Amino acid sequence: DELISQIAAGEVVERPASVVRELVDNALDAGATHIQVKLMGGGVRSIVVEDDGCGIPVAQLPLALKRHATSKIANLHDLESVATMGFRGEALAAIASVSDMALASRTAADAHAHRLDARSGELQPAARARGTSVEVRELFFSTPARRKFLKTDATELAHCVEAVRRHALARPDVGFAIWHEGKLVDQWRAASVEQRIRDVLGDDFVSDSREFELSIGPMALTGRAGLPEAARSRADQQYVWVNGRYVRDKLISHAIRSAYEDVLHGHRQPSYVLFIEIAPELVDVNVHPTKIEVRFRDGRALHQSVRRAFVDALAKSQS
Ligand code: ADP
Ligand code: MG
Repeated sequence: DELISQIAAGEVVERPASVVRELVDNALDAGATHIQVKLMGGGVRSIVVEDDGCGIPVAQLPLALKRHATSKIANLHDLESVATMGFRGEALAAIASVSDMALASRTAADAHAHRLDARSGELQPAARARGTSVEVRELFFSTPARRKFLKTDATELAHCVEAVRRHALARPDVGFAIWHEGKLVDQWRAASVEQRIRDVLGDDFVSDSREFELSIGPMALTGRAGLPEAARSRADQQYVWVNGRYVRDKLISHAIRSAYEDVLHGHRQPSYVLFIEIAPELVDVNVHPTKIEVRFRDGRALHQSVRRAFVDALAKSQS
């Protein structure tokens, strides 16, 4: 069972940044309005994610660590319309199998918090306000082969920060702070969509990009298409979210590239942000354990709409 969990963990947890992504997903699903990410040693030595969300009832703390235990979907039918970031119930179990994990949590109904040590199973009273803290220490300590694949602390830290940036851009209504070795690395207060883009990607990106907004049937596309000038300051800043989930998708990047080719006659490294909102039953997010890949029911319609949104935004900047 331990072995199966560790194999499954390999699919979910590649490096500290994957842990950060999963823990922040959980905090957002819990309705957090403020999320702190505290890292040591690039996240390899320790990752602590603290939120002010709904908390986990003490009776369910041990369950949260069980494989395939999720409080988010009740049956297969729900999977068709999943609105939360999580639904597979594997992240915490997977992370716990390759680290030293502890959960501390308190709901509005609790008189105090409880802390569960995943390895020993020991449950103790703890002090914290409503919400949840997840502590992940010594990632891959029991799987040295995997630990060897990690890069320097600085590189792992950069990936962790990037994971938080992706969340921060998608959720401007939530405040984020990232710490490393006790020092504040970055923080973003709750803001408007535009202000959050300025805060995370810089004023230059906003002035060197054009906004677009396109609604077609069950799909709404919003975002900013970077002009060639934007590439000078921030090359290769390419962000796409589907229903709030950061994704990488060949179909989407192809549609965007073809728009740049048409209007600007080729532009090798466009930077852009694209938020796609689509009826949940028209997209399958259960393609890969990390949920970074998605599958669209009507890929052709999506490709056309994305291309259209970028062509319109870029053409406007030409006239
Ligand atoms: P999933 O997110 O797919 O449900 P996880 O393994 O990530 O699975 O989490 C398991 C369960 O633990 C969640 O369904 C949720 O009930 C609970 N949980 C995890 N993190 C938090 C959190 N920060 N706040 C509240 N509940 C949480
Ligand atoms: Mg989750």
